[in-house]
Formats: sequence, C-alpha cells, structure tokens
Amino acid sequence: MTTWQDDASRDLMSLGGRLALLTRGEGSHVWDANDRRYLDFLGGIAVNCLGHAHPVFVDAVSKQAATLAHISNYFASPAQLELAARLKRLARTGDEGRVFLANSGTEANEMAIKLARLHGGKTGKSTILVLEGAFHGRTMGALSITPKAAYREPFEPVLPGIRAIAPTLEALEEAMDDSVVALFAEPIQGEAGVVPLPDGYLARARELTSQHGALLVLDEVQTGSGRTGEWFAFQRAGIVPDAVTVAKSIAAGFPLGALLTFGATSDLFYPGTHNSTFGGNPLASAVANAVLDHIETAGLLENVTARGAELRAGVEGLPLVSGTRGEGLLIGITLAAPVAGEVRAVAHERGLIVNAPADDVIRIAPAYTIGDDEVSEFLALFGEALAAVATTIPTQTETPA
Ligand SMILES: *Cc1c(COP(=O)(O)O)cnc(C)c1O
Repeated sequence: MTTWQDDASRDLMSLGGRLALLTRGEGSHVWDANDRRYLDFLGGIAVNCLGHAHPVFVDAVSKQAATLAHISNYFASPAQLELAARLKRLARTGDEGRVFLANSGTEANEMAIKLARLHGGKTGKSTILVLEGAFHGRTMGALSITPKAAYREPFEPVLPGIRAIAPTLEALEEAMDDSVVALFAEPIQGEAGVVPLPDGYLARARELTSQHGALLVLDEVQTGSGRTGEWFAFQRAGIVPDAVTVAKSIAAGFPLGALLTFGATSDLFYPGTHNSTFGGNPLASAVANAVLDHIETAGLLENVTARGAELRAGVEGLPLVSGTRGEGLLIGITLAAPVAGEVRAVAHERGLIVNAPADDVIRIAPAYTIGDDEVSEFLALFGEALAAVATTIPTQTETPA
C-alpha cells in the first residue's frame, strides 16, 4: 500500500514539506488525514491571521468569486481601488503615496528592487545595502538581496551591486555614502529567528538614507498587516520609509502582496515598467479588504498586543526557555540549548505546530483571534514539549574539571 509520503516523494519537487497531511481547519486548529488535531501556532508562517475557515474569509471569497474574480491589468475594479486607498489610510503617511498589488511577498520585493533601479537611473547610484540575516524571498532578484549563503550559492551569479552589512548602527554608519541607492531592511527579521533591529536603527537609517539620497525600503511582509500590534512596524519607530512591502497576513491566506511607496518615490514607475496578470485581481483584493476591515472593526490589533504580552509572560520560566523576542504575535522564544528542532518535533507529536527558524529559537505567529483557551492550550502543550526535551539534555556539572 502506498502512503501519501510515497506520493509526495514521487510527484512533488524534493523541497521538504512532509510533516503531516492536513485536510481541514477551524479557528486555531487543523486536522490531519487521520483526524488528529493540532493547535496551529505557526499560522501558515504568519499568514492565517484570522485562523482557519473564518466566516469573514469564507464569505469574502465566496461572494467575490460569485461576482467577479479576475479581469486583467487593462481594467480596474472597485475592490482594487478600495484596497489601495485602505492601505494608504492604514499607513498614515499622508495623501502622497501609491500601491501596487502583487501575489506574494517575493514579488512585492522584486518590484521594490526595480524601484531602487529606477531611482538609480535618475541619480546614477547603484549599490543596494542589505542586512546580514535578511530574508526577502527566493526569486533571483529577491534572492540577490537575501545574503544567506545556503539559499544563494546554488544559484549564483545573482544580481551585482548588492552589499550585505551587519545589522548594527556602526556598520550602517560605516557603509552609508552617496553611492548607495537603497537600504533594504526588515524591522524584525522573522526567518532569522525573530531578531529585531537594534533600538534607534530605523530612525538613524531614515536620517542617513535621506542625507545620502538613498531609498529606505522596509520589508514588512512578515511584520506588516497588524502582526506586531501596529498596522506596520515602521509606525512604532515613528518614521516613514520610502517604500514598504507587505504580504503574508494581509489577506489571511489568500495570495496577495503589495508594494506601497510614499512621497516622491511614488512617481518612479511609469506605464510599461511593471505589471502582473493576477496581481490586484478583484478576488484577492476583496478578501484583503474584508480581512483588514475585520481586524479594524473587531479590535484585533489590541488583541494582538494583549495576547502577545500574555504569551511572552507565560513562556518565561518554562523549562529551557532563556528569553523572548519580537512584538505582538510575532514571537521568538529563545532556548538555553540548541534543541529547537527537537522541541518542534516533540511539540508536533503532541499536537502543537510551531517552527524552529534557528537552532535555539522557536517561532510562534498565531492568529490575531486567539483567546484565553488557545493561550492556555499552547502554554500547556509547549511546556510539556520543553519538559520532555529537557530530560534528554545532560545536566551541566557545576565545576568543570
Ligand atoms: C515570507 C517572507 C518573504 C517572502 O514572501 P512570499 O510570500 O513567500 O513570497 C519576504 N520577506 C519576508 C520578510 C518574509 O517573511
């Protein structure tokens, strides 16, 4: 008898993704083909912000699919216009701004690289600064601004003119000069293990990029759309970047990404310089509108902040936990030993989905809708998983020989 794993190994590209065969979801839970239930605290990697099968999501998909799903970029739709205006309003950066709707975070970042090139065409600059530890996507452009060697090396040569610097104020001060066309940064590096930028980094980056005529481009694919308790993480820093990219939670699981530009940067693209067949289609746009409207009207940003604080307080003191990082419901739980992979696996066996972006970090990014029940279920399951792994670690001797 062949198993689903056999089918997957034979028919799918060999790129991983074999943890379970999931068949349905409801709220913060998913079920596999054997009807095993899991508490989903990864949320499709910071995507399922309303959990699974939320009525707002289901209604929006159904209604728009039954009305008008796809047109082409020769036409506009009310849903697309509403979403662009909504994103500008939520960004609170004033009237001067434009939005392009794409289908993923990577695509939004690709367009941001083209934005930097257009800016370079006007100014004669070409160096793009990126931060060590960054993740911006897997297509050739997005990969070029993602310094991680394991992702890049098999695909070199990548785009020229990109310089990776340490995510420190000193490295920024040292690297910034008039040859720099843009600085790309994530306010919190999600894939690196939920690593925030140093205090004051964004404010200083804004000053230095402005001073040298470079663009400040923020990748908020993971931190945007309310994930940190603010609509955009840059709002917490009190700065306005030249451009920001979003995706992941923006449509709660429907594929959609966006590039927002602010101020003069908004006039760099002109007809013929970019487009997308699916990008900004009425279906994806309508779902994003419904999701963002629900986050707003149901007060979910307040819930993100409150539940995030509860979770951070709750995990402190659990076995192996050495600290927490992140904001809102993007949380990195650091461990006292490099056993995050084991903790993830034991948690999975016990019915809890989390991930391990680094050897000593567990990441959680649950739905914005979680309440007391989900928080206590998480703390119980996660505590058990940690305790089980802790017993397998040899205890340190007090005085090394
Ligand atoms: C996930 C992610 C991306 C890539 O987005 P996709 O939708 O997978 O293309 C880019 N940047 C950051 C910060 C991300 O977390």
